[in-house]
Amino acid sequence: MGGIFGVVAKENCARLLFYGTDYHSHLGTEQGGLAIFGPDGFTNSIHSIGQAQFKSRFVDDYRKMNGFMGIGAIDDDSPQPLIIRSKFGTFAIAVTGLVTNKNKLAATLLAKGNSFNEMTTGGVNSAELVGKLICLGDDLVDGIEKMQSLVEGSLCALIMTADGIYAVRDKLGRFPLVLGERIENGNGSYIVATEASSFDNLGYAPAKYLGPGEVVFMSREGYETLRLPGPKRQVCSFLWIYTGYPSSSYEGIGVEVARERCGRLMAKNDQVSADLVAGVPDSGVGHAIGYAIESGLPYRRPLVKYTPGYGRSYTPPSQDIRDLVATMKLSAVKEVIAGNRMIICEDSIVRGTQLKNYTINKLWASNAREIHVRAACPPLLFPCIYSSSTRASAELAARRAIEQIEGGQPSDLRPYLDHSCARYQQMVELIRKDINVTSLKFMNIKDMVSAIGLPEGELCLYCWQGH
Ligand code: SF4
Repeated sequence: MGGIFGVVAKENCARLLFYGTDYHSHLGTEQGGLAIFGPDGFTNSIHSIGQAQFKSRFVDDYRKMNGFMGIGAIDDDSPQPLIIRSKFGTFAIAVTGLVTNKNKLAATLLAKGNSFNEMTTGGVNSAELVGKLICLGDDLVDGIEKMQSLVEGSLCALIMTADGIYAVRDKLGRFPLVLGERIENGNGSYIVATEASSFDNLGYAPAKYLGPGEVVFMSREGYETLRLPGPKRQVCSFLWIYTGYPSSSYEGIGVEVARERCGRLMAKNDQVSADLVAGVPDSGVGHAIGYAIESGLPYRRPLVKYTPGYGRSYTPPSQDIRDLVATMKLSAVKEVIAGNRMIICEDSIVRGTQLKNYTINKLWASNAREIHVRAACPPLLFPCIYSSSTRASAELAARRAIEQIEGGQPSDLRPYLDHSCARYQQMVELIRKDINVTSLKFMNIKDMVSAIGLPEGELCLYCWQGH
């Protein structure tokens, strides 16, 4: 998914920019970058973070930076922020999300005589493409609006000029953008970020959640909305289930409490006897705590994460690295596992291979008596088309099971979302066998929506419904 961070301040903001961007490390694993504007104009620094943490790559760079405005990015695809010289003057740009019609837009611009830098991975840098689209406008704001009308998918952007930072949220508000004000001596110091969870530690408080498609300009003089939010929003449900940091909140709804509500609802609908409840670290933990509260069973830790420094095992693009991260990051606590019947809460089951190979196998190897997996969302039937996803439809555990049942992929997948349907139950049984657990249950979509707390029509449910 990636994350972006921006700051305007009265003094050198390099340290704030460094830490604020670093707080988005859980959202991407491949590319990181910082751009700053100060007495020496625009400077930027971009590194691959595929083999190292953001902090270790940028600690020397940020100490050399000096400026009162900056933007940063962590992404799985495009190196950024880029600095672009344009007819509107120089600006730096960082984007997050996915431009699904990227190739088509790039081809149109190429036909008009534009050119693009070639990324080492091939393809076009999303930040460069978006910057070029903005330059089609009569002025910067007109260009941002044109860009929003041309881009399909989901795209948030920060554009830093010599005057201030334009913050742009995607048209349907799938991914968040939050503006914060400094708590002490606040005048003239503002930050904007994908994740508000960084704000407290940086000394800022959320002042404004941008609405769908909203454009806000912030400078040391304050901030103002340049384009009002649109009427319709479809916020990513997965933010609350898996992607978001536990201390974050989106649309005013906290991630951890939403996960606890998921866990409570799963426990209410469950009759299984067990000795303990546990979450697969980290994103299964909130769900498991909710389950433990509702069921009265003790919350224990049969699995611990060696260090938060291990990233998410589903984000790296190569299967080898995903497997390596998954193997290394979790350690089994044998004394808690041996002889126990355990309920293991997981945010979701994507391919199921990591859960089986690196979590369930470790529990069996430590002599678990029974393993009951509870997933906090329905079986995933469609890969995300609004952020860079590492999954292909055929890889999804649910789709593999459906293939076995049907001998192919049916055009109507609705029976596989309906708990009362025999085909749904067949699919769950096949996944259960595949991941090798005593029992398996998925949350139903109605309960998941109710645990999040937004009306169904305001949530993106594409992962499950395909529309
Ligand atoms: Fe979120 Fe899934 Fe929608 Fe992507 S498709 S925005 S992951 S709910």
